[in-house]
Amino acid sequence: MTISTGALVLFSGGQDSTTCVAWALQRYDRVETVGFDYGQRHAIEMTVRPGVLASLRTQSPDWDRKLGEDHVIDLSLIGKISDTALTSNVEIAMLENGLPNTFVPGRNLLFMMVAATLAYRRGLNVLVGGMCETDFSGYPDCRDDTMKALQVTLNLGMATRLKLETPLMWIDKADTWALAESLGGAALVDLIRTDTHTCYLGERGTLHDWGYGCGTCPACALRANGYAGFRQQRNAAA
Ligand code: ZN
Repeated sequence: MTISTGALVLFSGGQDSTTCVAWALQRYDRVETVGFDYGQRHAIEMTVRPGVLASLRTQSPDWDRKLGEDHVIDLSLIGKISDTALTSNVEIAMLENGLPNTFVPGRNLLFMMVAATLAYRRGLNVLVGGMCETDFSGYPDCRDDTMKALQVTLNLGMATRLKLETPLMWIDKADTWALAESLGGAALVDLIRTDTHTCYLGERGTLHDWGYGCGTCPACALRANGYAGFRQQRNAAA
């Protein structure tokens, strides 16, 4: 029996999800992408998405052929039902419960549920997301167990056989750069450096060796440290 392998990748325009799109393009015959517009303060992520996808197409004719439709879904209801530093203009800080105030409760659950419904309509049977336990930001909806439980729930609730893939779950940010290199060589690393966006503050003025960003917010710090680790490993191997 041939199982058609089409994937829908949760694609925000950041480093992780761009690596996930490349990962899916290496594995599946058809790859579509979905982005969620929820009034995030780093809305610049949403604006870099088309450019990243266009650049991915130039990486190889195979990727260009496989890469299908990009969907943008309005989830502005998130801003209405939750109060978080990710959607309102307050200082990023840690809360008493140990979670950063950028935490949107259950956000990834909602994302996956919406993506599952879209995948159903598009005839895609794999969902790919950049959730990761290793660089633990304190987000319980990024955990492996959460994703596995959600896969069961979605398949029970929709009578489907969807597979949730999270290729970054057990690797750190240095290895995410290394994964990009193994998928698309130096050209893909360069694309991710210059085209993708991670900074919480939406800063895109200065190009650092790890990409654009303020350099000090938690997202920039993770990305910059990861890139430094990746370069170190490269130099040690050379
Ligand atoms: Zn930043």
